[in-house]
Amino acid sequence: MRKLALAGSAVALAAALALPAGSARAQQATASIPHFDPKGKPPSVHTRQVLERARATLPFSDTRDFDEQKRGFIAPMKDLKIRADAGHVAWDMERYQFLLKQDRFDSIHPSLNRISVLNMNYGLYEVIPGIYQVRGFDLADISFVRGKTGWIVIDPLTAAETARAAVKLFQEHVGKGLPITAVIYSHSHGDHWGGIRGVVDEADVRAGKVQIIAPRDFMNHTISENVYAGNAMNRRLFYQYGVLLPASPFGHAGQGLGMNIAAGALGLIAPTRIVEKDIEEFEVDGLKMVFQNTPFTEAPSNMNTYIPSMKALWMAENVTATLHNIYTLRGAPVRDPLNWSKYIARALYLYGQEAEVMFASHHWPRWGNARIQEVLRGQRDLYAHMNNQVLHLANQGVTINEIHNVYRMPKSLEQQWFTRGYHGSPEHNSRGVVQRFLGFWDANPATLIPLSPSDSAPLYVEMMGGAEKIMARGRQLHDEGKYLHAQEILNKLVYAQPTNQAAKDLLADVFEQLGYQQENPGLRNSYLAAAYELRSGIPSGTAPNSSGPDVIRAMSTELFLNFLGIRMDSRKAEGMRFTINLITPDNGEKFVIELENATLTNLSGFLAPKPDLTMTIRRVDLEAIMGGAKTIEAQVAAGLLKLDGDAAVLAKLASTMVDFDPRFQIMPGTKLRDTGVSKALPYEAVPRQTIAE
Ligand SMILES: [Zn+2]
Repeated sequence: MRKLALAGSAVALAAALALPAGSARAQQATASIPHFDPKGKPPSVHTRQVLERARATLPFSDTRDFDEQKRGFIAPMKDLKIRADAGHVAWDMERYQFLLKQDRFDSIHPSLNRISVLNMNYGLYEVIPGIYQVRGFDLADISFVRGKTGWIVIDPLTAAETARAAVKLFQEHVGKGLPITAVIYSHSHGDHWGGIRGVVDEADVRAGKVQIIAPRDFMNHTISENVYAGNAMNRRLFYQYGVLLPASPFGHAGQGLGMNIAAGALGLIAPTRIVEKDIEEFEVDGLKMVFQNTPFTEAPSNMNTYIPSMKALWMAENVTATLHNIYTLRGAPVRDPLNWSKYIARALYLYGQEAEVMFASHHWPRWGNARIQEVLRGQRDLYAHMNNQVLHLANQGVTINEIHNVYRMPKSLEQQWFTRGYHGSPEHNSRGVVQRFLGFWDANPATLIPLSPSDSAPLYVEMMGGAEKIMARGRQLHDEGKYLHAQEILNKLVYAQPTNQAAKDLLADVFEQLGYQQENPGLRNSYLAAAYELRSGIPSGTAPNSSGPDVIRAMSTELFLNFLGIRMDSRKAEGMRFTINLITPDNGEKFVIELENATLTNLSGFLAPKPDLTMTIRRVDLEAIMGGAKTIEAQVAAGLLKLDGDAAVLAKLASTMVDFDPRFQIMPGTKLRDTGVSKALPYEAVPRQTIAE
């Protein structure tokens, strides 16, 4: 999704840029920048106190991150914006310059402010002679390692345009025009492979001039993680990543892992070599590398790399300068923190005893063995503690509804910057651990089959004495700074009376203060995004662009057919019954597809003896249908799809299919007024084509 209309963002940007350097401090630390939303409020005295307490208790005297972030700086990137080939702005650092013009903001948690300033590094850095990074061109970093004949790229960002710009900056200063001889995808998330076409030419890959190396099961997981619940994840990204929020002290203020995600062309070239064994050692462009698969850690397909001759340890996204997500707010299966911790421990004992530099796919490197061990040990314990202590408490009866208020990290870890919650938070991660092991139910039968919120809320409102009483008490709690209490009752009122704008505005005011108080950008953005939608409704705008052909190609036919079963509105399929055989002769696959019991199923490797219809199409021609470039009719007319039997079943099947709209309502009474259904491609999981992390 690009450019959803949002009045006010230009105003906020202009205001941010007009702010004179060094102005406005302390109590007035955000007063000179107007709020982008006419209904927006400044931070309250209570919010400012929360941020003051954080300033007083967090280890701001430890400035090693700033030393490490600056170290090896070679050249800045001069253009603050990078254009996409399609014409729009793919990357924009101008909108975040306000962060560099003031030391502090009363509407941004000081720790979040700190990581965002660190993430404003924007240029080329030397890690050690022979290893370089371009940082700040995307959510992730791109790294260059000197091989015998050229450069080995690790993790080519999300977008071809930003990756290309990074290579250009690198070549201007360090690269000496030597070719890129290999690419390593460290893991399956899109911010680590989507920019591949900005780095290498596919013809060179096919000709064997460029090797692409990836961890075990890479292709399986690149796309599949985000398909089935893709539209819901897409919608939830509007909250986690604050997609509609302008960059502002009152809006988006960085994303923790980086400033944001680039919005350019996403591509995928399949790896030419997969690291299959747990640990494999081989030469890449003449340089010996040791690859350590770390499956089901930060990503389902993932690997660390050690370069013995350089004593350089690449920790992928397994160890960055933050507590990462165990549970991710956009929605995903909960990750396994104990497994994650063990893989960090293995890296510590296999390579961390002698490594002299450690670098990763986000943030900045760590130098010196003592520092490396400090960070590896802290990160190992961070995830193990999360697992162990949450389960310790759960085994004593603490439920998923309480754990976030009970779980605390050990003090020694809380006082380390590299364990702060810039992506995961102790709150949502601890709930995730309970979810992983025990699921949603707290074992209280009252929550077994609860009423839906919109059904229970009217009873609450009635019993609480009506809207006026709730508003009065809600305002009082708001004024006292008891925002969590205020949200509890105002949320009921908003569910009971979705058209009560005064109630929605007051709940928005409460959410906004909670947003300002959060260290974690996902939590902050979620509160601020909900406040925005409560005040103004969901803005209309264009729907996501179609997935690139590379992404379609990476999707298996089975995954596509499975997803058709999800797209089908089963209520429209009552009474239908038919069987289709699908044959794709060019790749030797066959499927039996059955519609029965209002359920669409498919089975790979089988054909029905008496199908209603047999479809024969080359996989490559099927991809045009999967990607929406061609209709079934067009492929039939072109002679590319052969139908044998009763073609009318296809019309029946089509009549049951629904196009998901990524703008469905989350908060009551915020529904889009514009009735035009935005047509999102089924597996269009996220605004910028794939979900990064
Ligand atoms: Zn990432």
